[in-house]
Amino acid sequence: MQVTRELFDDVMVPNYAPSSIIPVRGEGSRVWDQNDNELIDFAGGIAVNCLGHCHPALVAAVNDQASKIWHLSNVMTNEPALRLAKKLTDATFADRVYYANSGAESNEAALKLARRWALDNYGADKDQIIAFKQGFHGRTFFTVTVGGQEAYSDGFGPKPGAVEHVAYNDLEALKALMSERTCAVMMEPLQGEGGLVSPTADFVKGVRELCDEHNALLIFDEVQTGFGRLGSLYAYQDLGVTPDILTSAKALGGGFPIGAMLTTAEIAKHLKIGTHGSTYGGNPLACAVGEAVMDIVNTPEVLNGVKEKEAQFRAGLEAINAKYNAFSEIRGKGLLLGAVLNDKYQGRARDFMVASADNGLMALVAGANIVRFAPSLIITDADITEGLARFEKAVAQIVNA
Ligand code: PLP
Repeated sequence: MQVTRELFDDVMVPNYAPSSIIPVRGEGSRVWDQNDNELIDFAGGIAVNCLGHCHPALVAAVNDQASKIWHLSNVMTNEPALRLAKKLTDATFADRVYYANSGAESNEAALKLARRWALDNYGADKDQIIAFKQGFHGRTFFTVTVGGQEAYSDGFGPKPGAVEHVAYNDLEALKALMSERTCAVMMEPLQGEGGLVSPTADFVKGVRELCDEHNALLIFDEVQTGFGRLGSLYAYQDLGVTPDILTSAKALGGGFPIGAMLTTAEIAKHLKIGTHGSTYGGNPLACAVGEAVMDIVNTPEVLNGVKEKEAQFRAGLEAINAKYNAFSEIRGKGLLLGAVLNDKYQGRARDFMVASADNGLMALVAGANIVRFAPSLIITDADITEGLARFEKAVAQIVNA
């Protein structure tokens, strides 16, 4: 069968608008399409492929597990799931792990746990979930409602209730909304989809204090920021604030679907037998890959490397901007960076992404005005240099058009 991009329109639900390019193989930070055209990958499958494509250790992990046992369901536990959970709890504040298959599912579990914790401890009135405008937490109906973009949550009928939003970094607004009714505050420790917005140190500290004051749980959604992306295993470890619940997905599996919710033993006990579940969560294949990812990512070599590569990216992007004056700012942290388009190029982030692909570079957008980069955490210096050269060509094409 001839597989073409046109086939997408014939057989797929039209909720995506994928590129005209169909990649067929990848190695490290390079990808080849059906016509053997080579691309450099600064997109990382949206902050997922933290060790690039087909990393030998991950290929070995998946192959090794594939010939042992693939799936059991949660009627029985399995060795990879327990090994990974032990490593996750050893490396973080958490004592307990719940596995899911995606970021949204991990967040769904976190929100349900928070509600159950509040119900058990304080009664049904403590149900308010506060989250932040422009935040993103996934596409299940609960998580998309908690996410702060109505464009994504409107149009599906009645939404889950008692969910409210305030502006990110606005501590006073949060303070005004919080009360003993507040069950949990959910936040990204750097807003990814919402535009690579970093929290101020005072804001994060203040959110923690308000949660303590009102007996509310602090949930960090580290689906995008976690697993080395910002230069520490989890972003909270660099912020000086510890959440009560943390969610992880994306890079946790390096490209294999897996999600996890981490929490303390005290909070975890409220998800009693039968209260929540997933057929695939904790699947041995996914956990075997997750363990292999963790063994590599959670090392000083990789985490310090992220900080060095960030500097290389920033310097390269600033140099491009000095020539072409297209960006107002380079923002983000670690290897989650965004070039914010200046007034002249408002609304054109997608054009920059398409021009990048035309020049052999996979990039991302974050909204209409930011070109986003989320490459492999171990991308080589040579690939960064070459990818930036390709990006420069894309920028030149648009600026000189
Ligand atoms: N939370 C954050 C912060 C995300 O960036 C995303 C995806 O972009 C999600 C949750 C949803 O993850 P998934 O698409 O795996 O459900």
